[in-house]
Amino acid sequence: MLSYDPTPAFAAAQDAADPLAHFRHEFLFPKGSDGQPVAYFCGNSLGLLPKAARAAAEQEFKAWEERAVEGHFTGDQPWMTYHEALAGATARVVGAQPDEVVVMNTLTVNLHLLLVTFYRPTAARYKVLMEAGAFPSDQYALESQARLHNLDPTAVIVEIAPRAGEHTLRTADIEAKIAELGDSLATVLFGGINYYTGQVFDMQAITRAGHAVGATVGFDLAHAAGNVPLHLHDWDVDFACWCNYKYLNAGPGGSSGIFVHERFANRPDLVRLAGWWGHDQAQRFQMKKGFQPMSGAAGWQLSNGQILTLAVYRASVALFDQAGGMRALRAKSEQLTGYLEFLIGQLHLPTSRLEIITPADPAQRGCQLSLLVHERGRELFDYLAAQGVVADWREPNVIRLAPVPLYNSFEDVYRAGAALQEFYNQQ
Ligand SMILES: *Cc1c(COP(=O)(O)O)cnc(C)c1O
Repeated sequence: MLSYDPTPAFAAAQDAADPLAHFRHEFLFPKGSDGQPVAYFCGNSLGLLPKAARAAAEQEFKAWEERAVEGHFTGDQPWMTYHEALAGATARVVGAQPDEVVVMNTLTVNLHLLLVTFYRPTAARYKVLMEAGAFPSDQYALESQARLHNLDPTAVIVEIAPRAGEHTLRTADIEAKIAELGDSLATVLFGGINYYTGQVFDMQAITRAGHAVGATVGFDLAHAAGNVPLHLHDWDVDFACWCNYKYLNAGPGGSSGIFVHERFANRPDLVRLAGWWGHDQAQRFQMKKGFQPMSGAAGWQLSNGQILTLAVYRASVALFDQAGGMRALRAKSEQLTGYLEFLIGQLHLPTSRLEIITPADPAQRGCQLSLLVHERGRELFDYLAAQGVVADWREPNVIRLAPVPLYNSFEDVYRAGAALQEFYNQQ
């Protein structure tokens, strides 16, 4: 266990000893009003631009310019099978086998596609369990899925909230709720990490509990993919999806990933919304009637790949392998986040003024700390911004700070701590 010091010398020494420190130079940082790079803590919202992204996109522009339609079939990575080139690195980030993942579309679109397959309500089994306060897009997706089946969303969606006086959910309470819903439960849909509190849910326990009552279990990993180690295959999760523009740094509106467990790889009988790109590759261009899905997650593809976006993703996801994978990143992440927590503790503020609502247990959090600021929260947020500390504000009074191990330094974290200290010294 590292013992922390609230000094710039300590932060500098940590950075000097950090084997991942140089990855920071693979990214471009926005500049603050002083012309210096900001201390960026918004990787949970939009990851920074990897320097390699431009060249990767340029390579595809060049292929388009020079070979046009031939680009589908020729070159270093033909567009027709582009998704295959992404599967290995993607699978390693989420703990899957390569054919269990595919990168396509955007997150909410993919959530709908997966729910079409995995939420199959019957008269008796039609409920969906979600965490209360799930990301709004997930709530709207679920409401509209209920309507798609001519069901009343309020009868379908069951939300589980933290106990009174608590900010996060207890695994035992989630398990108990699943058992209580029993035969009426069709699907469990949870965030892998709640976007607001930063709580990591015990995905393995939730999956086990869901399967025990015969429900399908899926996760929205928008805040988990590229943040914490995941073992989707071994946890036996049925399905998952995530966006790649948060911790995976693939750019605004960038592509999304899906996971479908290999148990469903060769199940052409599963109901799905189909398109030609999910059709058996060997026969795709015979343009025949009768959809026959490719095996694995690729069988959920609809359209030919969005190559310019996927090229950026290919460059950004490659950094995860270069950094030694999620295990190496996680080791640094725990220290960075621990340091931020330590510096916030040094403010010695009563919880009536400021409290961290993210779990204190490192196993139950990723790299985000959510600060519930009971007084003058917006002022604090604006003060941080003026000091070049980029955080994010969630109504009504939460500031989220996410030190990302790929590009944040201990000095960045020190800077955030110092800015917080200055704000409260002025009070
Ligand atoms: C960021 C986020 C989204 C965003 O969805 P898009 O379809 O990519 O716009 C959805 N769900 C969760 C849980 C998120 O964190």
